[in-house]
Amino acid sequence: MAREKARAVEICTDSPEATGELAKKLGSRLRAGMVLCLVGDLGAGKTLFAQGIAAGLGVLDEVTSPTFNLMNLYAGRLPMAHFDLYRLEDEAELDEIGFYEYTDEPRGVALIEWADKFPAALPEAYLRVELRPGDTKEARHITFSPVGGGYDELMASLEALGKGRPDD
Ligand code: ADP
Ligand code: MG
Repeated sequence: MAREKARAVEICTDSPEATGELAKKLGSRLRAGMVLCLVGDLGAGKTLFAQGIAAGLGVLDEVTSPTFNLMNLYAGRLPMAHFDLYRLEDEAELDEIGFYEYTDEPRGVALIEWADKFPAALPEAYLRVELRPGDTKEARHITFSPVGGGYDELMASLEALGKGRPDD
């Protein structure tokens, strides 16, 4: 029997600041081994979301887009590996940039922009975060869907955040 599909949570934001705040709250709740796949078009807000996550992890360094260097590493409460696969052409290069080292049983957390480009390379379990434009210039629909196990607690937090309830 097919496994029951875990429920997705959608949260809408109306400014970059709101997206940053949401990501920061999520970042403060991440645990070692978690992987976030950030999906959405150019300018959707993936890097901005990653910056908020970093803030929530207590990263003090400036977080910049890894579009050209493919991966940046940061030290926070947990180590954070930030990938951007936009410019990667060949899946075989993932090994060279240390992708699997940081996404298969990572010691810290891994964030992957353009994760959907190489679906076969993704770990068994991750949180998919899709950002889509909304009705206005600064509106975004952010959908969180867990793939594989291990994200129940985080999903409960997100559900509470989406309802505007403090969850703990
Ligand atoms: P990506 O990494 O997906 O290409 P960026 O995070 O680099 O996108 O850029 C997102 C841009 O969209 C930023 O200039 C940001 O200020 C703007 N923006 C406007 N509204 C929002 C919002 N609600 N959430 C996130 N970004 C927003
Ligand atoms: Mg980006």
